[in-house]
Amino acid sequence: MANEVILYPLGVGEAYSKGLGWVHFLLIVDGRKLFIDCPGRLQAMLDHNARRGELPVAWADYREILLTHLHRDHAEGLGELIENGAVSPEDPATLYAPGWLFDDLRSHREKHWVVSAATIRGGNDELDRHYWMHALGTRHDLGGFTVECMETRHGIRCVAYKFDFVGYKLGYSADTGMCPPLIEWLSECDFILHEVYLHEVEEDEMREMHTPLADLLELPEAFQKKTHLCHYSTDYREHKEIGHYRFLERNKAYRLV
Ligand SMILES: [Zn+2]
Repeated sequence: MANEVILYPLGVGEAYSKGLGWVHFLLIVDGRKLFIDCPGRLQAMLDHNARRGELPVAWADYREILLTHLHRDHAEGLGELIENGAVSPEDPATLYAPGWLFDDLRSHREKHWVVSAATIRGGNDELDRHYWMHALGTRHDLGGFTVECMETRHGIRCVAYKFDFVGYKLGYSADTGMCPPLIEWLSECDFILHEVYLHEVEEDEMREMHTPLADLLELPEAFQKKTHLCHYSTDYREHKEIGHYRFLERNKAYRLV
């Protein structure tokens, strides 16, 4: 069992948020650093952390990265790490994700707001020189703890993750529309991170992308009490009626184990 697990949010905001960073977490398991996603605008996030954060985080810490999907606000930082020399051919970083996500990353597909070899300078040559892509199985042993994934309901393929630190489980919804099987899958966790959509839902299309707060408020109290909301908008403080949920705080160390 892990002796110490710290969840450290570097960014908590949705794609159009300002001043919150894009959703981005660091997990520290007995000193080992594993980043969840690698959004763009990393420099601004690290600068903010240097000013306000409880823990130091440096470019050089980006050695292991677990990816949920390839939207820019989750994966654009892969190119930024290459460009500023944080990862190098002499010392590649490891990426973890389902195999299909790497196929999509290596494709030259140009799709709005999506990262692929077509959007990274140098394309696949540079990706291969700087990253070791490690495809995850259904339940994957990361060395002392395991991670499982489940596909969510989003505009592009995306996975939620569930970590088992032996005796303590952490779940992260990643980006998703309301998805009852996913809620059930996450429910056994001790600590849950779930995305939230705080705006008025004007188009049904949005329900296929993100989860409105009203839908989350219908979930059982037990689920709400162990869930922190992330991927929220700049005006989140105006939303007072959030049931038993809490908003996840940026640059705060959550000591889980
Ligand atoms: Zn997304």
